[in-house]
Amino acid sequence: MVNTGAVVSILTTGGTIASRGFAGGARPDVRGDDLVATIAPTDLVLRVREILHVDSSAILPADQDAIRLAVDAEFADPDVCGVVVTHGTDTMEETAMLLDLMHDDPRPLIMTGAQRPADSPDADGPTNLSAAIAAAADDRSRGSGVLIAMGGSLTPARGATKLDSGALAPFAEIHPGLARPVLPRTCIARARVDLLSLYPGVDPELLDWSVSRGADGMVLSATGSGNTHPEVVAAVTRAIDRGVVVVLCSRVPRGHVIAHYGGGGGAVDLVHEGAIISPWLRASQSRIALQVILAGGGGRPEADAFFGTA
Ligand code: ASP
Repeated sequence: MVNTGAVVSILTTGGTIASRGFAGGARPDVRGDDLVATIAPTDLVLRVREILHVDSSAILPADQDAIRLAVDAEFADPDVCGVVVTHGTDTMEETAMLLDLMHDDPRPLIMTGAQRPADSPDADGPTNLSAAIAAAADDRSRGSGVLIAMGGSLTPARGATKLDSGALAPFAEIHPGLARPVLPRTCIARARVDLLSLYPGVDPELLDWSVSRGADGMVLSATGSGNTHPEVVAAVTRAIDRGVVVVLCSRVPRGHVIAHYGGGGGAVDLVHEGAIISPWLRASQSRIALQVILAGGGGRPEADAFFGTA
C-alpha cells in the first residue's frame, strides 16, 4: 500500500517536535533537514521545506495562511504523492482545520508533532514523523482529508481536539464521521473572528468591546448545549445588529449543541436573535471555519449553509 520511491514533501513549522531545551525554556530551533535526519531509513524520496520556526501557541493567522499556501505549492507538483506538515500540538487542531477546509485533492495531507522535545532521550517526534511520512505515501490515506499522526493514531482533522496536554496521542475525535464540506481558498488573516468563553458572571460588555475592535465574526463557547445569561443574549443582539456573524458552540468537550432551552438565555433565545448553531465542531475549529467564510467575502448565509452541514 505504501508507494515505494514516491515523493513526499515535508513542511516544517516548529513546535515541540523541533524544540530543544535552553536556559530560558524549550524553543523550536531544529532545522527541517536535521529533523528529518532523525527518522528511520525509508525508500521514499523526501523533500524538506522549512516554513516557520514557531511555537504553535504563538502562531498568527498570517502564519497559518503561509502554511496553507506552502501546502498548495507542494500539491501543484504532480510528482508529489503526499504532504506532511510538522507543527506544534497546541494549535494543531486550528491549522489542521484550515488545511482540511481547503483540501480538495485526494492526495494525503498529514500533520504531526511531538509531546517531547527533540533533545529528550525518549523523544516521540521521530516515530511520529516516520508514521506521518508512511501515511502520506499510503493509498489508504487518499481521499480522507487532513489526518493527524500522533502516538500511533491517525485522527481526522475535522473534529479533532487536543484533549490531553501530556499524552503521546493527545488528539481525540469529538464526534466520529463528521461531514467535510470544503470552502473556497482564501487568506484568513483578512478577517477578525473573536472567541469568547462564557461562564457565570461573564461581562456582556466583552462582546461589545469585541465589536468595537472590529470583529467580523464571533464564536461563543457557551455552557452546556449552547446556553448563557439573558444579558449575554442582549449583547449578541447588539453585535448581530452591527453586522457581526455569531456562531454558537459549547465549552463541553463532547455532545451536540441544540436549541432546547429558552428563558431568555438559552440557545432558543440565541438562535431567535440570529446566532448560528455549530452542532458538533468545538469553538477553536468553528472559529477557523467562520474566519475562512468571512475572509472569503461570505456572510451570514454562507455561514448558515456551512454550519448546517458541518
Ligand atoms: N508549545 C508547543 C507548540 O504547540 C507544544 C507542542 O508542540 O506540543 O508548539
